Amino acid sequence: MTGSEVIVIGAGAAGLGAARRLAAAGIAVRIVEARNRVGGRAWTAHDPSGLPIELGCAWLHSADENELSALALQSGLGVDKTRPPWRTQMNNVGFAPADLADFRAALGRLFARLDEAGEAEDDQPADRLLDPGSRWNPLLNATSTYMNGVELDQVSVHDFWRYRDTGVNWRIVEGYGCLMAALAAGLDITFECPASMIDHTGAQVRIETPHGDLRAREVIVTVPTGVLAAGGLRFHPALPDKVEAAAVLPLGLADKLYLGLDGAEEFPKDSHLYGAIDSLHTASYHLRPFGRPLIEVYFGGRFARELEVDGDSAFAAFAIGQLASLLGEGIRKRLHPIAATAWARDPYALGSYSHAMPGHAEARTVLAAPVDGRLFFAGEACMVHDFSTAHGAYRSGVAAADDVIAALGKR
Ligand SMILES: Cc1cc2nc3c(=O)[nH]c(=O)nc-3n(C[C@H](O)[C@H](O)[C@H](O)COP(=O)(O)OP(=O)(O)OC[C@H]3O[C@@H](n4cnc5c(N)ncnc54)[C@H](O)[C@@H]3O)c2cc1C
Repeated sequence: MTGSEVIVIGAGAAGLGAARRLAAAGIAVRIVEARNRVGGRAWTAHDPSGLPIELGCAWLHSADENELSALALQSGLGVDKTRPPWRTQMNNVGFAPADLADFRAALGRLFARLDEAGEAEDDQPADRLLDPGSRWNPLLNATSTYMNGVELDQVSVHDFWRYRDTGVNWRIVEGYGCLMAALAAGLDITFECPASMIDHTGAQVRIETPHGDLRAREVIVTVPTGVLAAGGLRFHPALPDKVEAAAVLPLGLADKLYLGLDGAEEFPKDSHLYGAIDSLHTASYHLRPFGRPLIEVYFGGRFARELEVDGDSAFAAFAIGQLASLLGEGIRKRLHPIAATAWARDPYALGSYSHAMPGHAEARTVLAAPVDGRLFFAGEACMVHDFSTAHGAYRSGVAAADDVIAALGKR
Protein backbone atom coordinates (compact mmCIF):
# COMPACT_ATOMS: atom_id res chain seq x y z
CA MET A 1 0.00 0.00 0.00
CA THR A 2 1.32 3.43 -0.84
CA GLY A 3 1.02 6.84 0.81
CA SER A 4 -2.06 9.01 1.31
CA GLU A 5 -1.96 12.65 2.19
CA VAL A 6 -3.91 12.09 5.41
CA ILE A 7 -4.87 8.88 7.21
CA VAL A 8 -7.60 8.90 9.81
CA ILE A 9 -7.57 6.02 12.28
CA GLY A 10 -11.10 5.00 13.23
CA ALA A 11 -14.43 5.38 11.42
CA GLY A 12 -16.57 6.47 14.36
CA ALA A 13 -18.27 9.86 14.53
CA ALA A 14 -14.92 11.62 15.03
CA GLY A 15 -13.17 9.87 12.15
CA LEU A 16 -16.09 10.45 9.80
CA GLY A 17 -16.29 14.12 10.79
CA ALA A 18 -12.57 14.52 10.11
CA ALA A 19 -12.57 12.67 6.80
CA ARG A 20 -15.62 14.51 5.49
CA ARG A 21 -14.02 17.86 6.25
CA LEU A 22 -10.74 16.89 4.58
CA ALA A 23 -12.46 15.41 1.53
CA ALA A 24 -14.55 18.58 1.16
CA ALA A 25 -11.29 20.57 1.16
CA GLY A 26 -10.00 18.40 -1.71
CA ILE A 27 -7.42 16.57 0.41
CA ALA A 28 -6.77 12.86 -0.29
CA VAL A 29 -7.87 11.08 2.88
CA ARG A 30 -8.21 7.46 3.80
CA ILE A 31 -9.76 5.94 6.93
CA VAL A 32 -8.46 2.73 8.46
CA GLU A 33 -10.99 1.02 10.69
CA ALA A 34 -10.49 -2.04 12.88
CA ARG A 35 -14.10 -3.25 12.63
CA ASN A 36 -16.08 -4.40 9.60
CA ARG A 37 -18.46 -1.43 9.90
CA VAL A 38 -18.50 2.33 10.41
CA GLY A 39 -19.91 4.11 13.47
CA GLY A 40 -17.81 2.71 16.34
CA ARG A 41 -19.89 3.36 19.45
CA ALA A 42 -22.78 4.51 17.22
CA TRP A 43 -24.18 1.10 16.29
CA THR A 44 -27.69 0.24 15.19
CA ALA A 45 -28.75 -3.41 14.90
CA HIS A 46 -32.22 -4.80 14.22
CA ASP A 47 -34.61 -7.02 16.13
CA PRO A 48 -35.97 -10.17 14.43
CA SER A 49 -38.84 -8.17 12.91
CA GLY A 50 -36.47 -5.57 11.47
CA LEU A 51 -36.98 -2.79 14.01
CA PRO A 52 -33.85 -0.73 14.69
CA ILE A 53 -32.24 -1.15 18.11
CA GLU A 54 -29.54 1.21 19.29
CA LEU A 55 -26.67 -0.71 20.89
CA GLY A 56 -24.58 2.44 21.35
CA CYS A 57 -25.70 6.06 21.28
CA ALA A 58 -29.39 6.81 20.82
CA TRP A 59 -29.98 10.44 21.77
CA LEU A 60 -29.10 13.61 19.94
CA HIS A 61 -28.15 15.53 23.08
CA SER A 62 -28.34 19.34 22.88
CA ALA A 63 -30.39 18.49 19.81
CA ASP A 64 -31.43 22.07 19.11
CA GLU A 65 -27.80 23.00 18.43
CA ASN A 66 -26.44 19.60 17.43
CA GLU A 67 -25.18 19.49 13.85
CA LEU A 68 -25.97 15.77 13.68
CA SER A 69 -29.70 16.64 13.90
CA ALA A 70 -29.41 18.69 10.71
CA LEU A 71 -27.18 16.08 9.04
CA ALA A 72 -29.73 13.36 9.83
CA LEU A 73 -32.52 15.38 8.23
CA GLN A 74 -30.32 16.18 5.21
CA SER A 75 -29.64 12.45 4.86
CA GLY A 76 -33.37 11.77 4.63
CA LEU A 77 -33.61 10.25 8.11
CA GLY A 78 -36.39 10.95 10.58
CA VAL A 79 -35.74 12.95 13.74
CA ASP A 80 -38.17 12.22 16.58
CA LYS A 81 -38.71 14.99 19.13
CA THR A 82 -40.58 13.01 21.80
CA ARG A 83 -39.20 14.05 25.16
CA PRO A 84 -37.16 11.41 26.97
CA PRO A 85 -39.06 9.73 29.81
CA TRP A 86 -36.07 9.65 32.20
CA ARG A 87 -36.91 10.62 35.80
CA THR A 88 -40.51 9.48 35.50
CA GLN A 89 -42.05 6.27 36.83
CA MET A 90 -44.68 4.55 34.70
CA ASN A 91 -47.96 4.31 36.64
CA ASN A 92 -46.01 5.09 39.86
CA VAL A 93 -45.06 1.39 40.08
CA GLY A 94 -42.74 0.88 43.05
CA PHE A 95 -41.93 4.60 43.30
CA ALA A 96 -44.64 6.67 45.01
CA PRO A 97 -45.07 10.22 43.64
CA ALA A 98 -43.99 11.79 46.95
CA ASP A 99 -40.82 9.67 46.96
CA LEU A 100 -40.09 10.50 43.33
CA ALA A 101 -40.48 14.20 44.12
CA ASP A 102 -38.13 13.78 47.08
CA PHE A 103 -35.58 12.00 44.88
CA ARG A 104 -35.79 14.70 42.22
CA ALA A 105 -35.22 17.32 44.93
CA ALA A 106 -32.11 15.41 46.08
CA LEU A 107 -30.88 15.29 42.47
CA GLY A 108 -31.54 19.02 42.14
CA ARG A 109 -29.50 19.69 45.29
CA LEU A 110 -26.65 17.57 43.95
CA PHE A 111 -26.65 19.46 40.63
CA ALA A 112 -26.70 22.81 42.46
CA ARG A 113 -23.69 21.75 44.54
CA LEU A 114 -21.89 20.51 41.43
CA ASP A 115 -22.47 23.93 39.89
CA GLU A 116 -21.04 25.70 42.89
CA ALA A 117 -18.11 23.33 43.38
CA GLY A 118 -17.31 23.39 39.65
CA GLU A 119 -16.28 27.02 39.99
CA ALA A 120 -13.92 26.35 42.90
CA GLU A 121 -10.20 26.17 42.17
CA ASP A 122 -9.71 22.67 43.56
CA ASP A 123 -11.29 19.66 41.93
CA GLN A 124 -12.83 16.85 43.97
CA PRO A 125 -14.74 13.58 43.48
CA ALA A 126 -18.44 14.26 43.03
CA ASP A 127 -19.54 11.85 45.78
CA ARG A 128 -18.29 14.36 48.35
CA LEU A 129 -21.29 16.50 47.42
CA LEU A 130 -23.86 13.89 48.46
CA ASP A 131 -25.94 14.35 51.62
CA PRO A 132 -24.21 11.90 54.01
CA GLY A 133 -26.42 8.90 54.71
CA SER A 134 -29.26 10.03 52.41
CA ARG A 135 -31.65 7.27 51.36
CA TRP A 136 -31.27 8.54 47.78
CA ASN A 137 -27.52 8.08 47.47
CA PRO A 138 -27.72 4.64 45.80
CA LEU A 139 -30.13 5.97 43.17
CA LEU A 140 -28.09 9.15 42.69
CA ASN A 141 -25.05 6.94 42.11
CA ALA A 142 -27.00 4.73 39.71
CA THR A 143 -28.09 7.86 37.84
CA SER A 144 -24.43 8.89 37.61
CA THR A 145 -23.61 5.53 36.06
CA TYR A 146 -26.12 6.21 33.27
CA MET A 147 -24.79 9.74 32.72
CA ASN A 148 -21.06 9.19 33.30
CA GLY A 149 -20.59 5.44 33.11
CA VAL A 150 -19.26 5.47 36.69
CA GLU A 151 -20.40 6.14 40.24
CA LEU A 152 -19.86 9.61 41.67
CA ASP A 153 -16.62 8.72 43.48
CA GLN A 154 -14.93 8.50 40.07
CA VAL A 155 -16.41 11.68 38.60
CA SER A 156 -14.31 14.85 38.51
CA VAL A 157 -16.49 17.78 39.61
CA HIS A 158 -14.56 20.14 37.30
CA ASP A 159 -15.07 17.88 34.31
CA PHE A 160 -18.76 17.33 35.00
CA TRP A 161 -19.28 21.07 35.46
CA ARG A 162 -17.73 21.86 32.09
CA TYR A 163 -20.15 19.61 30.20
CA ARG A 164 -22.66 21.72 28.26
CA ASP A 165 -26.15 20.50 27.45
CA THR A 166 -29.20 22.47 26.32
CA GLY A 167 -31.52 19.84 27.80
CA VAL A 168 -33.12 19.12 24.42
CA ASN A 169 -32.92 15.45 23.41
CA TRP A 170 -34.17 13.98 20.12
CA ARG A 171 -33.68 10.61 18.41
CA ILE A 172 -33.03 9.32 14.91
CA VAL A 173 -35.94 7.11 13.89
CA GLU A 174 -33.88 4.74 11.71
CA GLY A 175 -30.98 4.77 14.20
CA TYR A 176 -27.62 6.47 14.59
CA GLY A 177 -26.01 3.70 12.55
CA CYS A 178 -27.93 4.87 9.48
CA LEU A 179 -26.62 8.40 10.01
CA MET A 180 -23.05 7.09 10.29
CA ALA A 181 -23.48 5.09 7.08
CA ALA A 182 -24.81 8.20 5.32
CA LEU A 183 -21.88 10.29 6.59
CA ALA A 184 -19.44 7.64 5.36
CA ALA A 185 -20.80 7.59 1.80
CA GLY A 186 -18.08 8.22 -0.76
CA LEU A 187 -15.20 8.06 1.74
CA ASP A 188 -12.21 5.78 1.23
CA ILE A 189 -12.40 3.35 4.16
CA THR A 190 -10.35 0.20 4.71
CA PHE A 191 -12.19 -2.15 7.09
CA GLU A 192 -10.83 -4.87 9.39
CA CYS A 193 -7.59 -2.95 9.48
CA PRO A 194 -6.56 -2.31 13.11
CA ALA A 195 -3.56 0.01 13.35
CA SER A 196 -1.08 -1.26 15.94
CA MET A 197 1.81 1.22 15.74
CA ILE A 198 2.38 4.77 14.51
CA ASP A 199 6.01 5.50 13.70
CA HIS A 200 6.53 9.25 13.44
CA THR A 201 10.32 9.31 13.10
CA GLY A 202 10.57 9.57 9.32
CA ALA A 203 9.59 12.14 6.71
CA GLN A 204 6.26 10.39 6.40
CA VAL A 205 4.26 8.89 9.23
CA ARG A 206 4.24 5.08 9.03
CA ILE A 207 1.30 3.08 10.34
CA GLU A 208 1.58 -0.64 11.01
CA THR A 209 -1.49 -2.71 10.20
CA PRO A 210 -2.15 -6.42 9.48
CA HIS A 211 -2.52 -5.41 5.82
CA GLY A 212 1.00 -3.98 5.74
CA ASP A 213 2.48 -0.55 6.41
CA LEU A 214 0.64 2.61 5.37
CA ARG A 215 2.25 6.03 4.96
CA ALA A 216 0.82 9.51 5.17
CA ARG A 217 1.93 13.12 5.62
CA GLU A 218 -0.55 13.66 8.47
CA VAL A 219 -2.46 11.28 10.72
CA ILE A 220 -5.59 11.85 12.80
CA VAL A 221 -6.00 9.34 15.65
CA THR A 222 -9.58 8.85 16.86
CA VAL A 223 -9.35 5.57 18.77
CA PRO A 224 -11.05 5.55 22.20
CA THR A 225 -9.01 6.32 25.32
CA GLY A 226 -9.44 2.74 26.53
CA VAL A 227 -7.55 1.50 23.47
CA LEU A 228 -4.79 4.12 23.81
CA ALA A 229 -4.29 3.45 27.53
CA ALA A 230 -4.21 -0.33 27.03
CA GLY A 231 -1.53 -0.06 24.34
CA GLY A 232 -3.89 -1.21 21.58
CA LEU A 233 -2.31 1.49 19.45
CA ARG A 234 1.29 2.46 20.23
CA PHE A 235 3.62 5.21 19.05
CA HIS A 236 7.29 5.34 18.13
CA PRO A 237 8.78 7.42 19.63
CA ALA A 238 6.43 6.77 22.53
CA LEU A 239 3.98 9.51 23.55
CA PRO A 240 3.72 9.08 27.32
CA ASP A 241 1.69 12.30 27.74
CA LYS A 242 -1.02 10.89 25.49
CA VAL A 243 -1.10 7.51 27.17
CA GLU A 244 -1.21 9.12 30.63
CA ALA A 245 -4.00 11.49 29.55
CA ALA A 246 -5.96 8.58 28.10
CA ALA A 247 -5.51 6.62 31.33
CA VAL A 248 -7.09 9.37 33.46
CA LEU A 249 -9.92 9.78 30.92
CA PRO A 250 -11.12 6.17 31.03
CA LEU A 251 -14.31 5.00 29.40
CA GLY A 252 -17.01 4.40 31.97
CA LEU A 253 -19.43 1.61 31.28
CA ALA A 254 -23.02 1.71 30.05
CA ASP A 255 -24.53 -1.45 28.63
CA LYS A 256 -27.86 -2.01 26.97
CA LEU A 257 -30.22 -4.94 26.82
CA TYR A 258 -33.19 -5.12 24.48
CA LEU A 259 -36.22 -7.21 25.39
CA GLY A 260 -39.14 -7.93 23.07
CA LEU A 261 -42.46 -7.30 24.84
CA ASP A 262 -45.65 -9.20 23.98
CA GLY A 263 -48.89 -7.27 24.50
CA ALA A 264 -46.91 -4.04 24.59
CA GLU A 265 -50.04 -1.88 24.08
CA GLU A 266 -50.87 -2.39 27.76
CA PHE A 267 -48.07 0.06 28.61
CA PRO A 268 -47.76 3.73 27.60
CA LYS A 269 -45.44 4.57 24.70
CA ASP A 270 -42.05 5.96 25.66
CA SER A 271 -42.49 5.36 29.38
CA HIS A 272 -39.86 4.63 32.01
CA LEU A 273 -39.25 2.61 35.13
CA TYR A 274 -36.56 2.82 37.76
CA GLY A 275 -35.93 -0.82 38.62
CA ALA A 276 -35.20 -0.18 42.31
CA ILE A 277 -34.97 2.96 44.36
CA ASP A 278 -32.64 1.82 47.12
CA SER A 279 -29.86 -0.15 45.43
CA LEU A 280 -27.01 0.27 43.01
CA HIS A 281 -27.86 -3.17 41.68
CA THR A 282 -30.54 -1.83 39.41
CA ALA A 283 -31.31 -0.73 35.87
CA SER A 284 -33.25 1.92 33.99
CA TYR A 285 -36.06 0.69 31.70
CA HIS A 286 -37.34 2.57 28.66
CA LEU A 287 -40.60 0.91 27.66
CA ARG A 288 -41.90 1.05 24.12
CA PRO A 289 -39.30 3.41 22.59
CA PHE A 290 -40.98 5.05 19.55
CA GLY A 291 -44.07 2.99 20.52
CA ARG A 292 -42.23 -0.20 19.48
CA PRO A 293 -42.90 -3.50 21.30
CA LEU A 294 -39.51 -3.38 23.01
CA ILE A 295 -37.93 -2.48 26.32
CA GLU A 296 -34.49 -0.87 26.28
CA VAL A 297 -32.71 -1.59 29.54
CA TYR A 298 -29.74 0.55 30.59
CA PHE A 299 -27.10 -0.71 33.03
CA GLY A 300 -24.12 1.33 34.21
CA GLY A 301 -20.95 1.43 36.24
CA ARG A 302 -19.64 -1.35 38.48
CA PHE A 303 -22.90 -3.30 38.30
CA ALA A 304 -22.74 -3.43 34.49
CA ARG A 305 -19.13 -4.63 34.77
CA GLU A 306 -20.19 -7.41 37.14
CA LEU A 307 -22.94 -8.52 34.78
CA GLU A 308 -20.54 -8.55 31.80
CA VAL A 309 -18.28 -10.87 33.79
CA ASP A 310 -21.25 -13.11 34.61
CA GLY A 311 -21.88 -13.68 30.90
CA ASP A 312 -24.29 -12.73 28.14
CA SER A 313 -27.47 -14.00 29.76
CA ALA A 314 -26.85 -12.20 33.09
CA PHE A 315 -28.33 -8.90 31.89
CA ALA A 316 -31.58 -10.53 30.77
CA ALA A 317 -31.88 -12.70 33.87
CA PHE A 318 -31.49 -9.67 36.12
CA ALA A 319 -33.81 -7.39 34.13
CA ILE A 320 -36.59 -9.95 33.78
CA GLY A 321 -36.45 -10.65 37.53
CA GLN A 322 -36.56 -6.93 38.34
CA LEU A 323 -39.45 -6.30 35.94
CA ALA A 324 -41.33 -9.25 37.45
CA SER A 325 -40.95 -7.74 40.90
CA LEU A 326 -42.43 -4.46 39.60
CA LEU A 327 -45.06 -5.69 37.13
CA GLY A 328 -45.93 -9.14 38.43
CA GLU A 329 -44.67 -12.64 37.63
CA GLY A 330 -46.92 -12.83 34.57
CA ILE A 331 -44.62 -10.45 32.71
CA ARG A 332 -41.86 -13.08 32.51
CA LYS A 333 -43.45 -15.06 29.68
CA ARG A 334 -44.06 -11.85 27.71
CA LEU A 335 -40.39 -10.83 27.66
CA HIS A 336 -37.90 -12.10 25.07
CA PRO A 337 -34.20 -11.23 25.17
CA ILE A 338 -33.04 -9.84 21.80
CA ALA A 339 -29.54 -8.44 22.30
CA ALA A 340 -27.18 -7.25 25.03
CA THR A 341 -23.97 -5.29 24.72
CA ALA A 342 -20.65 -5.82 26.45
CA TRP A 343 -18.81 -2.59 25.69
CA ALA A 344 -16.10 -3.19 28.30
CA ARG A 345 -15.16 -6.43 26.52
CA ASP A 346 -15.19 -4.81 23.07
CA PRO A 347 -11.46 -4.63 22.15
CA TYR A 348 -11.95 -1.53 19.96
CA ALA A 349 -13.80 0.44 22.61
CA LEU A 350 -13.07 -1.05 26.07
CA GLY A 351 -15.93 0.94 27.56
CA SER A 352 -18.76 3.29 26.66
CA TYR A 353 -17.91 6.97 27.20
CA SER A 354 -15.13 8.92 28.81
CA HIS A 355 -15.08 10.65 32.18
CA ALA A 356 -12.19 12.46 33.83
CA MET A 357 -10.90 10.96 37.06
CA PRO A 358 -11.06 13.50 39.91
CA GLY A 359 -8.18 15.99 39.54
CA HIS A 360 -7.71 15.28 35.84
CA ALA A 361 -10.20 17.41 33.92
CA GLU A 362 -7.29 19.14 32.12
CA ALA A 363 -6.27 15.84 30.52
CA ARG A 364 -8.82 16.41 27.74
CA THR A 365 -6.75 19.32 26.44
CA VAL A 366 -3.53 17.29 26.71
CA LEU A 367 -5.11 14.45 24.74
CA ALA A 368 -6.38 16.79 22.01
CA ALA A 369 -3.07 18.61 21.45
CA PRO A 370 -1.32 17.90 18.10
CA VAL A 371 2.22 16.47 18.05
CA ASP A 372 4.82 18.04 15.74
CA GLY A 373 2.12 19.31 13.35
CA ARG A 374 1.80 15.74 12.00
CA LEU A 375 -0.18 13.72 14.53
CA PHE A 376 -3.62 14.99 15.46
CA PHE A 377 -6.08 13.62 17.99
CA ALA A 378 -9.86 13.54 17.95
CA GLY A 379 -12.69 11.59 19.59
CA GLU A 380 -15.25 12.41 22.22
CA ALA A 381 -12.68 12.33 25.02
CA CYS A 382 -10.85 15.30 23.44
CA MET A 383 -13.79 17.63 24.02
CA VAL A 384 -13.91 19.90 27.06
CA HIS A 385 -17.64 20.70 26.83
CA ASP A 386 -19.20 17.96 24.64
CA PHE A 387 -17.30 14.87 25.79
CA SER A 388 -19.05 11.51 25.95
CA THR A 389 -21.36 12.37 23.03
CA ALA A 390 -21.58 11.52 19.36
CA HIS A 391 -21.88 15.15 18.32
CA GLY A 392 -18.86 16.03 20.48
CA ALA A 393 -16.91 13.29 18.71
CA TYR A 394 -18.00 14.59 15.31
CA ARG A 395 -17.00 18.16 16.26
CA SER A 396 -13.61 17.00 17.49
CA GLY A 397 -12.98 15.31 14.15
CA VAL A 398 -13.91 18.42 12.20
CA ALA A 399 -11.64 20.52 14.46
CA ALA A 400 -8.71 18.12 13.97
CA ALA A 401 -9.27 18.23 10.19
CA ASP A 402 -9.17 22.03 10.30
CA ASP A 403 -5.84 21.81 12.14
CA VAL A 404 -4.54 19.42 9.48
CA ILE A 405 -5.66 21.76 6.69
CA ALA A 406 -3.83 24.62 8.42
CA ALA A 407 -0.70 22.48 8.86
CA LEU A 408 -0.70 21.40 5.21
CA GLY A 409 -1.13 25.03 4.16
CA LYS A 410 2.06 25.95 6.04
CA ARG A 411 4.23 23.40 4.20
C1 LIG B 1 -24.30 2.32 25.39
C2 LIG B 1 -23.94 3.69 24.90
C3 LIG B 1 -24.88 4.70 24.91
C4 LIG B 1 -24.56 5.97 24.44
N1 LIG B 1 -25.54 6.92 24.38
C5 LIG B 1 -25.26 8.11 23.79
C6 LIG B 1 -26.30 9.02 23.47
O1 LIG B 1 -27.47 8.72 23.70
N2 LIG B 1 -25.97 10.20 22.87
C7 LIG B 1 -24.67 10.52 22.55
O2 LIG B 1 -24.43 11.60 21.99
N3 LIG B 1 -23.66 9.66 22.83
C8 LIG B 1 -23.92 8.47 23.43
N4 LIG B 1 -22.93 7.55 23.61
C9 LIG B 1 -21.55 7.95 23.34
C10 LIG B 1 -21.22 8.01 21.86
O3 LIG B 1 -21.64 6.80 21.24
C11 LIG B 1 -19.72 8.18 21.70
O4 LIG B 1 -19.27 9.29 22.48
C12 LIG B 1 -19.28 8.43 20.27
O5 LIG B 1 -19.94 7.55 19.38
C13 LIG B 1 -17.77 8.27 20.20
O6 LIG B 1 -17.31 8.51 18.89
P1 LIG B 1 -15.74 8.46 18.62
O7 LIG B 1 -15.56 8.65 17.16
O8 LIG B 1 -15.04 9.38 19.55
O9 LIG B 1 -15.29 7.00 19.05
P2 LIG B 1 -15.74 5.59 18.45
O10 LIG B 1 -17.15 5.63 18.02
O11 LIG B 1 -15.36 4.57 19.45
O12 LIG B 1 -14.85 5.45 17.15
C14 LIG B 1 -13.51 5.05 17.18
C15 LIG B 1 -13.29 4.06 16.05
O13 LIG B 1 -11.93 3.62 16.10
C16 LIG B 1 -11.91 2.23 15.80
N5 LIG B 1 -10.66 1.69 16.33
C17 LIG B 1 -10.34 1.39 17.60
N6 LIG B 1 -9.07 0.95 17.67
C18 LIG B 1 -8.58 0.98 16.40
C19 LIG B 1 -7.32 0.66 15.83
N7 LIG B 1 -6.30 0.21 16.57
N8 LIG B 1 -7.17 0.80 14.47
C20 LIG B 1 -8.20 1.25 13.69
N9 LIG B 1 -9.42 1.56 14.20
C21 LIG B 1 -9.59 1.44 15.54
C22 LIG B 1 -13.13 1.70 16.48
O14 LIG B 1 -13.52 0.46 15.94
C23 LIG B 1 -14.15 2.81 16.19
O15 LIG B 1 -14.85 2.57 15.00
C24 LIG B 1 -23.24 6.25 24.01
C25 LIG B 1 -22.29 5.25 24.00
C26 LIG B 1 -22.64 3.96 24.42
C27 LIG B 1 -21.61 2.88 24.36
